[in-house]
Amino acid sequence: ISERINAESDQPCQSQDGCRMSLFINAGLSAEAELGSANMGAGIGLFRTEIPFMMRERFPSEKEQVELYRQILSAAPDLPITMRTLDVGGDKPLPYFPINEENPFLGWRGVRLTLDHPEIFLVQIRAMLRASIGFDNLQIMLPMISSVGEVEEARRLIDQAFFEIRDEIKDSGERLNKPRIGIMLEVPSVLYQLPQLAKQVDFFSVGSNDLTQYLLAVDRNNTRVAGLYNSYHPAVLGALYDIVKQANVSQVPVTVCGEIAGEPGGAILLMGMGYRRLSMNAFNLRKVNWLIRNVNLSESKHLLSRALTSSSHQEVFLHLNQYLESKG
Ligand code: PEP
Ligand code: MG
Repeated sequence: ISERINAESDQPCQSQDGCRMSLFINAGLSAEAELGSANMGAGIGLFRTEIPFMMRERFPSEKEQVELYRQILSAAPDLPITMRTLDVGGDKPLPYFPINEENPFLGWRGVRLTLDHPEIFLVQIRAMLRASIGFDNLQIMLPMISSVGEVEEARRLIDQAFFEIRDEIKDSGERLNKPRIGIMLEVPSVLYQLPQLAKQVDFFSVGSNDLTQYLLAVDRNNTRVAGLYNSYHPAVLGALYDIVKQANVSQVPVTVCGEIAGEPGGAILLMGMGYRRLSMNAFNLRKVNWLIRNVNLSESKHLLSRALTSSSHQEVFLHLNQYLESKG
């Protein structure tokens, strides 16, 4: 199969019955961008900016960040590049910004931290915007959103940075395009706020890793409860299904960028739900592309309805494995 996968990987990603899917990559190292647009699918669906921050000994300066982001944006100027603002805290500590908390996953992480430290947030946004001068492919994504107010506050700061930079370059003849702004859907509260959130943003992206953790109340890194952490839990699948239906009603583009999007069974279920945009690690791109071209939307809907009415993730896997084996 792997030979077949390689030989056919450049073909458009479309199921046997004509359902078009866009596949994006998750990245976090400039090396991934150096692969160039040939290996990026439809673009970068998630650039985890905290990774370069974690590899340093102090906060990178605005200038250092501009250089990094410019490398990424220029690697594929015609494809959307989604840069997520700093998502530290939880399991991702910065050695030079220690946080001590009893419940780090319920604590100061993602936008909670950066909105409390607007100087950190603004330097990062200014760097992204500066890097984007002359390009029109920057999308900015906010992690760990749990309420509408956080989006409003972040948008105010993004606007502030935008007008600052535009003013700073006004005599240069250069042009600064407005970035598209989106949020991660990964805290369960947002499931009940989607219509209001839809008015604030240009796109949604589902962080199924954290959504699983928070919906099931299972620490995603605690080995003692690892058996309970599963994105194929029928309740998590129900939440994912709910999100895409609501996003479609609001007409906001929605991607899934958690691990489930890059897994064969997951990609098929997500397609059956109505997702048309999946973002995954680059090494899963070919496999998922091949699989989608060899399945039917109608079969994936059938599988989905069996999964949603299953009692456990084990039962979901049983149905999925049977189906995947039939596909070779
Ligand atoms: C997620 O939570 O699903 C996600 C994509 O982000 P991260 O794994 O970086 O928290
Ligand atoms: Mg997350």
